[in-house]
Amino acid sequence: MKVVIIGGGAAGTVAAFELRKLNKDISITILEKGKHTEYSHCSLPYVIEGTVEKLSDIVLFHEDDYVKEDVDLKLDTEAVEVDDKLKTITYKNIGSGKKGKISYDVLVLAHGAHPFIPPIKDIEKSQYMTFTTYDDVEYLQKNIRSFDNAIIIGGGFIGVELGWGLIEQKKKVTIIERQPHILPGMFDQDMCSIVQKILEDKGMKVKTDVSIDDIQDLKLTSRDKLIVSTGIHVKDHFAKSLGLKFNRGIVVNDKMQSKKDIYCIGDCIEISKQDPKTKKSESITSWLGTSAVRQAQIAANNILNSSNPKKQLRFWTNNTAISRIGETVFGATGMTTEAAARKGIKTASARLKAYTRSEHCLDKKDIIIKLIADMKGYVLGAQIIGHEEVAGRLDLVSMAIQYKMKLSDLCSIDYCYNPSVAPIFEPLSVVADICQRKIGVLNARKK
Ligand SMILES: Cc1cc2nc3c(=O)[nH]c(=O)nc-3n(C[C@H](O)[C@H](O)[C@H](O)COP(=O)(O)OP(=O)(O)OC[C@H]3O[C@@H](n4cnc5c(N)ncnc54)[C@H](O)[C@@H]3O)c2cc1C
Repeated sequence: MKVVIIGGGAAGTVAAFELRKLNKDISITILEKGKHTEYSHCSLPYVIEGTVEKLSDIVLFHEDDYVKEDVDLKLDTEAVEVDDKLKTITYKNIGSGKKGKISYDVLVLAHGAHPFIPPIKDIEKSQYMTFTTYDDVEYLQKNIRSFDNAIIIGGGFIGVELGWGLIEQKKKVTIIERQPHILPGMFDQDMCSIVQKILEDKGMKVKTDVSIDDIQDLKLTSRDKLIVSTGIHVKDHFAKSLGLKFNRGIVVNDKMQSKKDIYCIGDCIEISKQDPKTKKSESITSWLGTSAVRQAQIAANNILNSSNPKKQLRFWTNNTAISRIGETVFGATGMTTEAAARKGIKTASARLKAYTRSEHCLDKKDIIIKLIADMKGYVLGAQIIGHEEVAGRLDLVSMAIQYKMKLSDLCSIDYCYNPSVAPIFEPLSVVADICQRKIGVLNARKK
């Protein structure tokens, strides 16, 4: 079997290595238009912050790792055309301009997405930059002395992480967000305002509910650097010519398959899934490294077990995400109250500020947990801000959502305790109990 993967980022690289782990004999080729082997995009803001020593440290696999695994990695090589009838890909070496052809039995599209640039009048005259790649960091590092002020359009987690990194580099930073609050999609307003205060206390200006329509509105000076961080969009490189469904990304089923012998993974996809009970179709995107990696593992498994549906794996996500600014860690999983309201789902929520260790321990830290559930008590989401032990609690809630657990389940878990490590009353259990009681009161009022 010959598998060709277009795109050697997180999804493409993990798919190649997973395929090799599962099968020693098949031929695996990656076509990657960039010059870099796989590196950690998620570490880019921390290189700017200075908590990663040097940019090259974020490279996760080097060329000899691919050779060792017998994966033919063609760097600087762009796939330009796919002919699914002949099962061939035409590619071009970017440096030499030379074209070549390669055949495949199974094709994996893992070509990622591009930064989304909002339609702002004359934006191209502003010498703006985006912040998504190794080369972007290299550019910023080289030009760090050329500006004093960074204006970041977009208050998602990448804009926030980058803003923090630039403050650490002694820049004056302003974040401009079109939505009523930063981190839209991840956090509700009440939790966002806590993060926003931390940013403002550090000296960052945060302007929300502000839409820039014309670049003149920003009154940029020669000492300003404009950085656009307004999300991503997927370009339809091959889907149309291959007859694949394309919406916000290439549409795949939850087995990562778009068509027989074509699998698509990572940022370039949208997953369409039917609820077995209600038969309602839901479509999700998950532009996260965690999802790209799991999708790659699932695709590799399913490619090799394509003739055995019983062995096929399926993907689902709560879009569990976490970030850090300075000493503060914040993350979320599942639905926000705002997202649930948009879907017409009635929710109750509870928020709790607690300690991560017993109150008498000097090194205890604050943690703020917001838990969201539907009116039957099923856990829908959580948002957590703290200084330690945020990830583990988020993952626990993610599991509760995935396995359709109720608040009562979160209350009855056998949590560990030691005063210097974890409090006797686990904050997650306490907030679940508060939320449960709230639901009881709200439901009683309705009767
Ligand atoms: C600054 C930043 C911070 C992030 N932080 C986090 C985080 O903390 N946690 C988290 O879970 N996620 C995070 N993410 C998101 C995560 O990095 C992405 O979801 C993940 O990298 C997507 O992987 P991918 O393989 O789909 O795409 P990519 O990694 O973008 O790889 C796609 C590759 O395809 C190549 N390509 C495109 N077209 C062609 C073609 N025609 N021929 C050949 N090659 C082609 C591209 O050059 C690229 O290398 C972050 C992203 C960024 C930018």
